[in-house]
Parts: sequence; structure tokens; C-alpha cells
Amino acid sequence: MSLTLYDTWSRSLREFVPLTPGRVGLYTCGPTVYNYAHIGNLRTYLFEDGLKRVLRLNGYAVEHVMNITDVGHLVSDADDGEDKMEAGSRRTGQSAWTIAALYTEAFRADMKALNIEEPTVWCKATDHIAEQIAFIQEIEKKGYTYRTSDGIYFDTSKQPDYGYLGRLDKAGLQAGARVDLGEKRNPTDYALWKFSHPEEKRQMEWDSPWGRGFPGWHIECSAMAHKYLGEFFDIHCGGEDHITVHHTNEISQTEAAYGTRLANYWLHGYFLLTQDAKMSKSAGEFLRVQLLIDRGYDPLAYRYLSLTAHYRSQLNFTWEALDAAQTALNRLRHAVHALGEASATPDAAAVERFMARLNDDLNFPQALALAHEVMKSDLAAPVKRATLLHFDRAFGLGLATWQPAEVAVPEAVRALAEARWVARSAKNWAEADRLRAEIDALGWVMKDGKDGYSLERR
Ligand code: AMP
Ligand code: ZN
Repeated sequence: MSLTLYDTWSRSLREFVPLTPGRVGLYTCGPTVYNYAHIGNLRTYLFEDGLKRVLRLNGYAVEHVMNITDVGHLVSDADDGEDKMEAGSRRTGQSAWTIAALYTEAFRADMKALNIEEPTVWCKATDHIAEQIAFIQEIEKKGYTYRTSDGIYFDTSKQPDYGYLGRLDKAGLQAGARVDLGEKRNPTDYALWKFSHPEEKRQMEWDSPWGRGFPGWHIECSAMAHKYLGEFFDIHCGGEDHITVHHTNEISQTEAAYGTRLANYWLHGYFLLTQDAKMSKSAGEFLRVQLLIDRGYDPLAYRYLSLTAHYRSQLNFTWEALDAAQTALNRLRHAVHALGEASATPDAAAVERFMARLNDDLNFPQALALAHEVMKSDLAAPVKRATLLHFDRAFGLGLATWQPAEVAVPEAVRALAEARWVARSAKNWAEADRLRAEIDALGWVMKDGKDGYSLERR
């Protein structure tokens, strides 16, 4: 069965054919670690995790590389404004290096809570400064760069097909450019290397052939993708906002240096919206996984919610939608749990229908609908369970390991147990036995240990 994916480059559905049989090279743009990730960012990582799972169900080994942007991502896409890391440092009063470590760990914890698998390779921009400098030198050698007073820039007018991914209207942009072009030659030109200002002491800066400074944001992905996946690999992903600037520039850099468009397929996840507006980390207030947990939701309810919308449509976040997702997830969990432990093989017909839906450009909403159909079907319990657990290899909802929560111990039972523990410790055996009988009458069993006791339902 063939897998079809929507490629932003060609703006069409294309059959997926790997460059090397059986293997897939995948690069996904990672977080900028100047703050926590919001659940919108995480929607993009959930989409990419779903893609990875579907690739594996199709029998491919996936080499997945994800970067950590810990330097050089400017607050504005126009190559001016502050570096987000230095701004984050000012906001928190901690060093840029400290906040990078802190938010990287927080990001990994969010991934774990959402059952998003880690990439094969994590790579930090600050660990790859030499590679980025070498990449810029390669672009320079090919004649695409120029120098301004604040950095080394890419001259996009020298690349006739610049902007194809974003279908950019270059003539329109050029005509609309005002005096604020500064020293840039064209509105779409972008920084490869930025110079440190002599009067400002940056926390993150390096020497380079052009002067002390730091890399532009886009170069890290071109350089690290090249290092770990080669000049041309299978799939590159990110959020829809990356189409017109970041990915356009990644392609531009790699094309200048190596003559390829970097990846064979370009996939983009669409935004999560809150109250119909883009949720933005730099705008301050945003929703985090921890807030969902604080409000009593299981983070996987958010994963479930993300499966209910196709990755190529925007999704409006509401608490009502999250409630519905939590209810539906609980129903699925209880159903699988109630099917017992017996093992069997999944139902072949159901699995085939399932794969047809996933292989149709990752139609998770339809695949999820099929899971509910199977749940209500009259398949034998062990087969039904095996089928749903097989489906969960794509969903990642942790259905195999889920257990109903421990029943809370009633106050009265807890008080009797405390009293009995005191009596027992004082070797007042008659009282201890009497209390045990009372606990037993309430349907509980008290088990004594060396340093304490436990209570179980009888
Ligand atoms: P950042 O950490 O800002 O570089 O963003 C990390 C990832 O989240 C990128 O792939 C973005 O395209 C993506 N992203 C940002 N905002 C949203 C949103 N509201 N919904 C979905 N993805 C988003
Ligand atoms: Zn990137």
C-alpha cells in the first residue's frame, strides 16, 4: 500500500518514495529555548510524531534529526531586533546559557508527557558554530554574499528561483520595499552572520572570518541537516509559519552551497489557534502543558484532541473541546482495559482499512473514527484488543499500559487504619484485631509492613 503525503514544495499530494529503500531521513525544526513551549508549538511536534509513527508502520527505519535553537533567532524576521535568547536572559535575569538548558529540559518533559518520541539526533545550534561558519564560507565561495555594517547577508536576487517554496511575489515585495531596507539590497535578503555591536557585550558570541558575532537563525538548520542527513534527504517538517521565511531561506542556503532543495518532501503542520488568534510565545500569555495538568487534564487528552483534526487544517483550542477529548480518551482506555489481557493477532481487515486512512496524507481523524468503530464491533475480545493496541502504535495514547486509577481510600477507613497502627505499635493486640475487623467490614484489607501499612480493596 503506498503512502501519500502533501508536499508544500509542489503544492500537491505525492506518493512517498524514499531516496534509499527502507530508510527515511527526517529533519524537524526544533524549539527556540528562550521560553516554555506552548501547546500550539506542541501541536506541530505531535503532527511530526504521528508522521514518524506512520512511516514506521509502513516498514521504514526513520533517522530523525531535531535541532535546538539556542542562539541567533531574532525577535523579528526582518533581521533586526534582539536575539530571542539574549532577550529571554534579560526577562528572567538568568544567563542565556542557563535558560537554554532550563527550557530544553522543560521541552523534553513536555514531549514525554505527550508521549512524543525523542529524535535519533538532537543538535544544538551552539554546538555547531564551526559547521555554520563553514557553510557560510561555502555560500560565500559561490558568490552569494555581501557585507553590511551589521553582518554578512545573502543576496537573494542572485537566485532566480528564490522564494519558490513560499510562492513569494518578489516583484511585489521589491516594489513595496521602503527606505527601511537599510543596507540590505533586496527585501528578502537575510543575515547569515550578524556582528556583535562593539558597545554591547553579548553572552553568546564567537569569532569568525568576518568578525565577532553570531549566526543568523536559518543557517543552523541548513548546516546541521547537511551534517547529519546529507545534501539531499527525504522529509523536512515544521509549522506553517516557516514556509515563507525560515524554510525558504534554508532551501536558498543549501541550494547556493550544494545545488539541492535540501529535502525531497516539505511538510507543514497548521496552527493551533486560541480564540481565533495565533498563540504567540513572544506575546507573553500562552497555554502550557503544565496548565492543562494543573487543571486536572491528562496531557494525553491534548494528544487525543490533536488527532481529531487533520494536520493541514488549523485547530481552534477550546476547553470544551479538551473536555470532549478527555471523555473520548477515557472511553477508549476503559474499553481496552475491559477487554482483558489475552493475546491475539489484530484483525487484518481492520488494519488494512486503518493503514489506508493513515497513508492518505495522515488522516488521523478518520483513523480515530475507525478505532471507535472497532471498539463497538463484535470482534472477539482478544482480537479487538490486539487491533486497538496495534492502532495505538500510530496514536501514541499509551493504551497498552493504562490502568484505572487507584480507588481513593475513604476517610473513615483511613482513620480506623491509623488507630489500628497505633494500637499495634503499642502491642495492644486485642484492640488491633477489633479495628482490623471493622476495616474488613467496610470492604478494605490492611496490610502491615515494617515501617507502615497499605490499604487495598477486598
Ligand atoms: P519556535 O520555538 O517558536 O521556533 O516554534 C517551534 C515550532 O512550533 C515551529 O515548528 C513553529 O512553526 C511551530 N508553531 C509556532 N506557533 C504555533 C501554533 N500556534 N500552532 C502550531 N505550531 C506552531
Ligand atoms: Zn529550521
